[in-house]
Amino acid sequence: MHRSVSSSSLFSVALGWQAPWEVIDVAFDPAAGRLDLQVGVSRGARFTCPHCGAEEQGVHDTLKREWRHLNCFQYQAYLQAKVPRVRCSACGKTSQVAVPWARAGSGFTLLVEALLVTLCQAMPVRQVAQLLAVSDMRVWRTLDHYVDQARAQEDFSGVSCIGLDETAARRGHDYISLFHDLDAGRLLFACEGRKAEVVAAFADDLEAHGGCAENIQAVCIDMSSSYRAGVDTHLPWAEVTFDEFHVIQLVNKVVDAVRRQEVKTNPGLKRRRYLWLQDKHAWTARQLIQFDDLKRQNLKTHRAFRIKATLREIFRTAPDRHSAEPLLERWYSWARRARIEPIKQVAQSLKNHWDGILNAFDSKLTNGRVEAANGQIQAAKAKARGYGTTRHLITIAYLVAGKLTHLPASPFKIPVAAKTLL
Ligand SMILES: [Zn+2]
Repeated sequence: MHRSVSSSSLFSVALGWQAPWEVIDVAFDPAAGRLDLQVGVSRGARFTCPHCGAEEQGVHDTLKREWRHLNCFQYQAYLQAKVPRVRCSACGKTSQVAVPWARAGSGFTLLVEALLVTLCQAMPVRQVAQLLAVSDMRVWRTLDHYVDQARAQEDFSGVSCIGLDETAARRGHDYISLFHDLDAGRLLFACEGRKAEVVAAFADDLEAHGGCAENIQAVCIDMSSSYRAGVDTHLPWAEVTFDEFHVIQLVNKVVDAVRRQEVKTNPGLKRRRYLWLQDKHAWTARQLIQFDDLKRQNLKTHRAFRIKATLREIFRTAPDRHSAEPLLERWYSWARRARIEPIKQVAQSLKNHWDGILNAFDSKLTNGRVEAANGQIQAAKAKARGYGTTRHLITIAYLVAGKLTHLPASPFKIPVAAKTLL
């Protein structure tokens, strides 16, 4: 048996290739741990001009190229080919023909790219790069390409309900804004910044994906004036709900500010931050005892806490806007009369946003799922110890939360005998 011919044809079959492409030689170097597959075209093969599509063009010359392929056993495998160029008789241009196993400009085969994308959904890019012994940059380039390509095919025509929130891109500064489809629970769009213009960028992207700004009927946001202004201008039909989580967070911040002020005259409040931030029913036995001690002292912190807890209770129990409104009005006048300046101010601020707060009781919208997705994105970021650029963070956000349906499938799902040239 002629060893070289049989292994070459075996690889041709295993790679699922069709004429005129075939594996013409196989070289294995155990010391270097690599396997090289020489790919060639049959003599006299003719190609379609990549430039104008004229068929049956003869080969003008060839260019030597190399691609990293899936490992064979434990060895790195490479494809090498003299890729033909055609000089077209119709348009006169000389151009390199496309190869069926890789996209133009990539040094990976399509199967390796599919593997990279699959692995990056489960582990940090740096680890994927180390596993395959390639640079981070090459993995990012591949990932950016496939995420962009998958997003380009997404259909947003049915989107009508949006959750908009921000997450930190880098420690302490630089934010990205994220727009989620609250019905489908998927990230639709992410971009740098958190000013009103991000909503304009979202509206453009929505239309580019078959959606329509006029279709957006509900938006859930925090009370930042820039998001509100952006929504009012660019999503004019949307009813705004202020996210309950952010409302409570705002009041919690004030409770903590009151505590920090009061610590100066009452050292018993030191290191009790979490007591006042949690709900009573979440307290441990020890916290309950601490609370009993503190509540007898007629503390401002305690009064502020009760005002916060009551607001929380209204959110928890009022079934609709109609029943919530009188409860919130009563809460507001109580908070205004509390003789605690920061509490009065936050109550006034909520009153200024009354309509969006009341809408929550009917729309039932929260950004809970958006927060959960932000958590996943931040966890991915932490594992990778931060990303060099915001662009990378956005790519990962789409990968983690975008529910993209057009990403390449894992190469291990593809049957060896697949007829199509992947
Ligand atoms: Zn041509």
